[in-house]
Amino acid sequence: MTSIRPQPGILDIAPYVGGKSSVAGVTNVTKLSSNENPFGPSPAAQEAVKRSVHELHRYPSTDHASLRSAIAEVQSLDPERIICGVGSDEILHLLCQAYAGPGDEVIHTEHGFAIYKIGALAAGATPIEVPERERVTDVDSILAACNERTKLVFIANPNNPTGTMIGLAEIERLAEGLPPQALLVLDGAYAEYVDGYDGGARLVEARSNVFMTRTFSKLYGLGGLRVGWGYGPAEIIDVLNRIRGPFNLSGTALAAAEASVRDTAYVEKCRSENTRLRVWLAEALAEHGVPSDTSMANFVLARFHDEAEAEACNSYLQSQGLIVRQVGSYGLPHALRITVGDESSCRRVAHCIGQFKAGER
Ligand SMILES: *Cc1c(COP(=O)(O)O)cnc(C)c1O
Repeated sequence: MTSIRPQPGILDIAPYVGGKSSVAGVTNVTKLSSNENPFGPSPAAQEAVKRSVHELHRYPSTDHASLRSAIAEVQSLDPERIICGVGSDEILHLLCQAYAGPGDEVIHTEHGFAIYKIGALAAGATPIEVPERERVTDVDSILAACNERTKLVFIANPNNPTGTMIGLAEIERLAEGLPPQALLVLDGAYAEYVDGYDGGARLVEARSNVFMTRTFSKLYGLGGLRVGWGYGPAEIIDVLNRIRGPFNLSGTALAAAEASVRDTAYVEKCRSENTRLRVWLAEALAEHGVPSDTSMANFVLARFHDEAEAEACNSYLQSQGLIVRQVGSYGLPHALRITVGDESSCRRVAHCIGQFKAGER
């Protein structure tokens, strides 16, 4: 046993902890801890899943051509530069595996998504955390951390768990300032929530050092089926395809994702409902003395006086059947990340936080 050892870095990984989905002793909980779409997937996606049961004995497509062309058509992209993965998590891992190893550095920001660090360590590379400026990605601090060992720079835009984002001019300045061997990865898990934002797709097309990842887990409501995709320079797509499992996505997942991406009316409806309810929720919390930064995603990062108050509020919400996300592991112990649910969930969570702040618990 003792002489069988994993590769360096792997035992340094703190296992990913997902959002809670149950509370002991409380039935009928409302889960606002994993940024899921409260309305679920498009009805067209549900139909596609049902139809797919007749094909379960067939191996799925290896090139994902049909899904790639649907994405490309709807978003005006080049299908040859798209790669599909088991969630965007798989794409993030493939990037680390392909481009970073022992001695290499992978930059992520202070409150960046946990998978960047996990992917870097899994590849044997060194994750480098750089400060943000008041919970916003700071291009200057990223550029200051770059050196000849930097291979990948991960930023989520909008970011999770802060909800903040930076503009395309700033992203372009970052890409322009990177050392020649480094790739900028723009994680667009929440890009669909931002009206008129392409996730950085045009920048990918204009440059050779920018890569974008996207997911069907958030706005498309397909987290349970695990589908994500990446858009990047042709050479990078080619490299990732060499190491990707040939049958990584099931036929069911591919069919559901394709139907979702084509249901643009549903996407529009989910986006506008989210914006309306997010603004409402942030204002309601502010009235109760709980501030948050302007979020561009489907959650709000509620800030409390200190860790003890956030902890107490979290316990109170749980006792009321409301599960939100503690974000101490993201360097934000005084905050709670609250997913924008449907209207009644938003009202309930705001009401309970109001009770908590008023000491009526
Ligand atoms: C949810 C999320 C993802 C997507 O995960 P999937 O593997 O596609 O489900 C990626 N990045 C960020 C920042 C996220 O919050």
